[in-house]
Amino acid sequence: MIQIAENVWQIPVMPRQSVNCYLMGDVLVDAGVKRSGPKLLRALQGKAVSGHALTHAHPDHQGATADVCKALNLPLMCHAEEREAAETGHVLGSFPNPGSLMARMQQRFFAGAGHPVARVLAEGDQVGGFEVIETPGHTRGHISFWRASDGVLIAGDAVVGMNLLTTRPQLGLPLGIATWDMEVARQSIAKLAALSPRKVAFGHGPAVDGAALAAFADSLG
Ligand SMILES: [Zn+2]
Repeated sequence: MIQIAENVWQIPVMPRQSVNCYLMGDVLVDAGVKRSGPKLLRALQGKAVSGHALTHAHPDHQGATADVCKALNLPLMCHAEEREAAETGHVLGSFPNPGSLMARMQQRFFAGAGHPVARVLAEGDQVGGFEVIETPGHTRGHISFWRASDGVLIAGDAVVGMNLLTTRPQLGLPLGIATWDMEVARQSIAKLAALSPRKVAFGHGPAVDGAALAAFADSLG
């Protein structure tokens, strides 16, 4: 685990921080792909964990959700728009082309089982010491987590922190073939940049200083 701020740890479940989960206070954010369960449970051993929240219900975020929730008896939390995917494990609803080979492979090899949602999250809700910020675009119900007291932002896939082909750290838009509405996604990036975060963490790639997000948002115009 990599501590990125007070009471916030990044838990990479794939090499080069290419797929990340977070322990945010006592809440696990995201759960990697379906084979990430053992790694997550090892990382969380000895830690107080009382809940599990999803930034969004894509296969590289909800993969081990059911396993971890069952093993640690955690209530699952996500936005209302992600609930159906989280509960059924059918996670392609927000893909522009759910019949594509890439989408079907994601469902088959990475997606995990569904799990009942215990609490629906919406803008302004408090979880793990953070505030929920609705950041739709990548999916309809994508959310980010914001702690104003020290400017820490967990952005999920609202912004991607690495080039997904080369794995080089670099800020970018979410992957087009897996994104529901790119124009809405751009608006969410502007919304996050307007918070002026000091530290920003992602579902994919290493955490960066807030200046990097500001520069990226500016580059989008
Ligand atoms: Zn992702």
